[in-house]
Amino acid sequence: MGIDRIIEQDAFARNDIIRLLQSEGPDKELLFRKSAEVKEKLIGKKVWLRGLIEFSNICSKDCLYCGIRRTNKNLLRYNLPDEEILSAAKFAYDNRYGSVALQSGEMESRSVTLRIENLVRKIRELSGGTLGITLSVGEQEPEVYKRWFDAGAHRYLLRIEATNESLYRKIHPHNGRYDFRRRLDCLKALQDIGYQTGTGVMIGLPFQTMDDLAGDLLFMNEFNIDMCGMGPYIEHADTPLAKHSADLPPLSARFDLTLKMIAILRLMMKDINIVAATALQAIDPVGREKAVRIGANIIMPNITPGPYRDSYRLYDNKPCTSDSAGDCRDCLEARLSLADHEIVYGEWGDSIHYEKRRKGKQQNPDK
Ligand code: SAH
Ligand code: SF4
Repeated sequence: MGIDRIIEQDAFARNDIIRLLQSEGPDKELLFRKSAEVKEKLIGKKVWLRGLIEFSNICSKDCLYCGIRRTNKNLLRYNLPDEEILSAAKFAYDNRYGSVALQSGEMESRSVTLRIENLVRKIRELSGGTLGITLSVGEQEPEVYKRWFDAGAHRYLLRIEATNESLYRKIHPHNGRYDFRRRLDCLKALQDIGYQTGTGVMIGLPFQTMDDLAGDLLFMNEFNIDMCGMGPYIEHADTPLAKHSADLPPLSARFDLTLKMIAILRLMMKDINIVAATALQAIDPVGREKAVRIGANIIMPNITPGPYRDSYRLYDNKPCTSDSAGDCRDCLEARLSLADHEIVYGEWGDSIHYEKRRKGKQQNPDK
């Protein structure tokens, strides 16, 4: 079957996805044109913002790919005081970003639970309940997720990282803390509690195959996610996975593959929110804008106070670590207008998929 016929189908088989991932030249152009059309039809040439506050790089985990892993001693650890987190949220409110996303290393403890609960409440207070709140603070017990949801958080991003369990094991240390099943259970708990649930994977990992990537997209569809944040894997020199660099495709190929993953997912799940990951911009200065053109509709501008940005280094060459939050906004405005897209200010920009899923549930409460 030709690529044109594959794209027109209602559902993709694993082999179709692999064909699309391998498309080049006019076939790839066709894929990108179709995914852009789908986005424009359902969502418009629009982008919504989530002001990203990387509030702490302290992490109890040791993921083999990540620059802020627990055993990396080569960085300054920080934990932003509550006032600074709240003033970053106030910046997002004053600048009509619509939403904030709080992200950090993974810590599980009662004090962390209470702290985040309090921060969520305070962000709601300072914005009169108008700022959307996304959390991305890793694996937690269902009760903890529920407390934060009740406090006012309504979206959660937890990347599954790799849906092939054997690949997942290769990129995580071998002990009980890195249980693939627990990560899945966490995602399920988030969905059951009522969060808009987001997941994603890294693209271009050592040992990863096209078949794995096709499986990742099928998983997202099957799991019925509301949001996706996926980006290229980029080495961090101080991590164990970096020693496999020589076997990896160049960054430009990982970038290209990420765009294809976004385009295919947009065709498969037309009404979900898809993030144009910051890691794309680490490879190509207009990487996020390229992703927006072919299907992504969310950007997460960094509003972490300047001095801390450089220390939240998940991978090498993280962009814009010396900019201020205001610089990021002005720069984005200019870049997106070049990409023929507009930023929607002052709106949550919830995933249409989530709304439909919720309404469907009300009509069929047993489902
Ligand atoms: N600690 C939380 C959230 C912060 S990490 C968690 O792990 O869920 C956020 C994301 O950064 C991770 O999900 C991972 O996909 C991504 N990341 C980490 N190291 C990376 C690297 N070297 N290249 C690209 N993305 C990376
Ligand atoms: Fe910690 Fe998240 Fe990095 Fe893993 S990916 S080491 S959990 S910050």
